[in-house]
Amino acid sequence: MTTMSRYKIDANFIGGEWKRSGDKSITVTNPATGEILGTVPSFGATETREAISAAYKTFPVYAAMPLGERIALMRKLHDALLDNRSELAALLTAEQGKPLAEAAGEISIGAAYILWFAEEIRRAKGEIIPAATPGRRMMVTHHPVGVVGAITPWNFPSSMLARKLGPALAVGCTTVVKPASQTPYSALAWGKLAEEVGFPAGTINIVTGPPREIAETLMADKRVRKITFTGSTNVGKILIRQSADTVKKVSMELGGNAPFIVFDDADLNQAIEGALVAKYRNSGQTCVCANRFYVQSGIYDAFVKKLTQKTQNLIVGDGTGAGVDQGPLIDESAFKKVSALVDDAKVKGATINTGGHPHHLGRTWYEPTVISNVTTTMRIATEEIFGPVAAIMCFENEDDVIEAANDTDFGLAAYVYTNNMVRVFRMNDRLQYGMIGINEGLITTVETPFGGIKESGLGKEGGSQGLSDYLDTKYICIGGI
Ligand code: NAP
Repeated sequence: MTTMSRYKIDANFIGGEWKRSGDKSITVTNPATGEILGTVPSFGATETREAISAAYKTFPVYAAMPLGERIALMRKLHDALLDNRSELAALLTAEQGKPLAEAAGEISIGAAYILWFAEEIRRAKGEIIPAATPGRRMMVTHHPVGVVGAITPWNFPSSMLARKLGPALAVGCTTVVKPASQTPYSALAWGKLAEEVGFPAGTINIVTGPPREIAETLMADKRVRKITFTGSTNVGKILIRQSADTVKKVSMELGGNAPFIVFDDADLNQAIEGALVAKYRNSGQTCVCANRFYVQSGIYDAFVKKLTQKTQNLIVGDGTGAGVDQGPLIDESAFKKVSALVDDAKVKGATINTGGHPHHLGRTWYEPTVISNVTTTMRIATEEIFGPVAAIMCFENEDDVIEAANDTDFGLAAYVYTNNMVRVFRMNDRLQYGMIGINEGLITTVETPFGGIKESGLGKEGGSQGLSDYLDTKYICIGGI
């Protein structure tokens, strides 16, 4: 049972030591069962400053470590994640709720990010620029930014951290991590793994507690040179504002509102398979989840019918159960938000094709749902649903659907199903999204830049672009040669 896992640690990791709180703590609950898994410290400004001091002191030591040694440590971390994958996945499912197979996949992709950045750092080259004047050499070099503050969400509590630790550790930065309060154990496990494989004390520090107090301490401290955040757009905007006072670098992976567009010429089966994974993975709680389905009139009825049938076959249950496709929502307030969106659509005349009710398993569960005849007057057509509800609208022509798809402040992921290759290029030119899946519903890989445009964020994670946010670029001009 996960409660016995040696990776379930009820302490914070600061300066290489595990620190427990005397009085205040955060209770961690299994969203599937309501079982209390344990507690973690509720630390504040004092401990956050301690963690920043540890990271600041360690930075010159870690940054000066020979590259080969840093890479070797990262490879060990990668291997340790995979060696302990079952145990880490069980812990993730216990605190987050996703099916075990998805949790194991999350641990694997987290390990893959670490390996990717350990490889990519070998290619983080500088430049020599031809000088316009004789007797000069002009060079561009890259340097780690320094101490990085990382704030992560509950929906991918392990892999979201991997995307931040991967580039930070590769370039030589030290870190202070503040994980989501609902899923702290998966993050604290990274502290244990880092300790076991031999990262210097103070390289990774992890603090749990009230988000505002910890974040404000990180933001106000001049020693923290970069903030990387994954979470809601509202909190991201607060952090961007706070970053101004000390002019920190920021990377922001924020909310999404992904359109999923199916043209008449699409392969129906392919579109349905893509829709299932883009909609129902993690019970619809991913930032790249399909949020608005736009289906062209010629294929609309067939798409709605088939998606309804497939959705009815999804097995809902505790993520530890065999064959389970969908677990609970993270908490009761997520459940209430999903219920309210569906109820609003019902009142305004949408058709419920399947689901549309709370699930009998309890107050964190919602039935996998398909709703058709959705219109733009319904909240579900504009808000991030973050639940297992497919909201489908019908469209007639390409210009209209592009206009509708772009009519949002968000710009993270978009999906298009078509077999018209010329249209594919038009979609790439005109859809205002940072990532576009064409005939693919699952597009995240370590080799490519993940990130949004507009109010979905700043910067990229993964790919070769994922390193640059953790590097300062310097120009050096050598004269008198
Ligand atoms: P959230 O409420 O913004 O929380 C994310 C993190 O920020 C948590 O660690 C949270 O701490 C902390 N936080 C909360 N209030 C804060 C404040 N005032 N100042 C500083 N930190 C604060 O988001 P969420 O509900 O956990 O996550 C869902 C959102 O994340 C969705 O919008 C989703 O689209 C987005 N997301 C984006 C990506 C991406 O890559 N673009 C990936 C995953 C998720 P506590 O847990 O202690 O409250």
